[in-house]
Amino acid sequence: MIHLILGLLSLMCFALGGCSKPIPVSNGNVMTISKPAILDQRDYIEQRREDLVLSIHWFGTANYYIRLGDVGILTDPFVSYKSLFRIVFSGHTKSDSELVKSFYGSLNPPEAIFIGHSHYDHMLDTVEALKLSGWNSVPVYGSETTKNILAGYKKESPSSSQSEGRWSENWRGTKTLEWIEIYPIEGKPCEEDEGFPSLSICYKAFEAQHAPHLPPNFKYFSGKVTKPLKKPPHTADEFKEGATYVYLFKLIGRRGNEELPYTVALVGAATNITEDLKKHMNLLTC
Ligand SMILES: [Zn+2]
Repeated sequence: MIHLILGLLSLMCFALGGCSKPIPVSNGNVMTISKPAILDQRDYIEQRREDLVLSIHWFGTANYYIRLGDVGILTDPFVSYKSLFRIVFSGHTKSDSELVKSFYGSLNPPEAIFIGHSHYDHMLDTVEALKLSGWNSVPVYGSETTKNILAGYKKESPSSSQSEGRWSENWRGTKTLEWIEIYPIEGKPCEEDEGFPSLSICYKAFEAQHAPHLPPNFKYFSGKVTKPLKKPPHTADEFKEGATYVYLFKLIGRRGNEELPYTVALVGAATNITEDLKKHMNLLTC
């Protein structure tokens, strides 16, 4: 019965304009949204370290692959495209490993995965992505709730059923209000003057509020997961929101003494903008 009620609520949600609004993006600053396509493997294999061209590929929701040269990051992995309507009525949700492989299989493993918040449509495919060849040690940045959800998934050795730990081992707590380097050195403050490595990636996060799904302020699956799950989440309501973050990413390429910095903002489902972030938004609208 609860699924039926939630199903009707989700119908209202879509009739009222979907779950992605409102977003705090100024006029002229919204990216064109097009149907996500499976990547052509050649586009990525042939991109070289010295090609300091930023590429951003959108997979749907807040799932982006952002890449400079031969290093990149992935945000909010979700390619299984299960609608809230379907999930609420069927009562369960599961990542589709074949879809994950077809969408991400041709990418270079990212330097990190960032989770904006922990609803299923922002992290459902994280673990299947981490199982891809070369992805097993990719760090996952997110909230405590993200970590506790990842703890529900056992790492399985492909050759035996022996457990090798939990995917929460890949988790790194998102730090807010400071620039942190994730590549080439993970976790150190992101300094301006570091000599000239050819590429580096840093992030800065801001805690924000998730936009309501229904006015005036109703949100599905709000709250936190406060203890590590013992088994994979089975229903959408086990993917609680946890903290919601806006991320800024700085991808810096260097050629000789020349610095080529790009700043990318991932707003995701956030609805409020902090004063600190507003300063950076000026950068994004010019
Ligand atoms: Zn959400």
